[in-house]
Amino acid sequence: MLKNYKIDNISLKNSLEWQNKILRWYQINKRQLPWRKEKYQNFYCVWLSEIMLQQTGVKTAIPYFYKFLRKWPTLNSFSKASLDEIMFNWQGLGYYQRAKNMFKAIDIIKQNYPIKSYEELMKIPGIGTYTAASISAILYDNTKAVVDGNIKRILSRVMRLNPANKTFEKKLNTVAQNLTPKKNNGSYCQALMDLGSLICRPKNPLCKKCPVNSQCHYYIYPEKRIKKMFKNNKKSKFGVAFYLSYKNH
Ligand code: SF4
Repeated sequence: MLKNYKIDNISLKNSLEWQNKILRWYQINKRQLPWRKEKYQNFYCVWLSEIMLQQTGVKTAIPYFYKFLRKWPTLNSFSKASLDEIMFNWQGLGYYQRAKNMFKAIDIIKQNYPIKSYEELMKIPGIGTYTAASISAILYDNTKAVVDGNIKRILSRVMRLNPANKTFEKKLNTVAQNLTPKKNNGSYCQALMDLGSLICRPKNPLCKKCPVNSQCHYYIYPEKRIKKMFKNNKKSKFGVAFYLSYKNH
């Protein structure tokens, strides 16, 4: 566990140690994802990838990312696309509201370009707290904490935060912000995303290979683990079925 752990006041030494370990691990283990290439480190490509990844896994998003860039290589070309064209090319990716929001966002982006701050990003349709923090960290090294599902899981395990508690979100955000580096947050948040995907997986985390296991409550105190950390969010669907039965049939 982070030594001398206090949620509101994690010591600078502890947070620096944490950040350094995460960033060193990332240098060696970083996933080679298309939107991370140097040539795609611009607003349009990062925005496109972040919106696609909101409800879609990496493997599915990759061909769509390339498909959109072939059709609309720049923000300027994308700004001339019609809603029908965007929807047509989005087919198969699901959650079509994302495509509609991208279309709605074009005018706002063009009027306010370049959009760099977290607050400005939050005004764009389809961009919520996570996406705004992520885009501003990746492109502009903004220091707002980035908290997605992977990062929630890591920090909950490390700090033994129970999602069932009413104060969970508040505590988690405080911890996340206290651990976020003042520089290089773009790499740091992507490192945590990769750590969550490759090592601190939802089931059977690979704790022995984890760069921060010496600071992790879950690893050091297995007997105190919170059994069911996250609820199964899959929604159950209910329906009613009728059948007609005729006499003599
Ligand atoms: S030690 Fe295990 S539980 Fe803790 S952060 Fe690493 S992978 Fe996750």
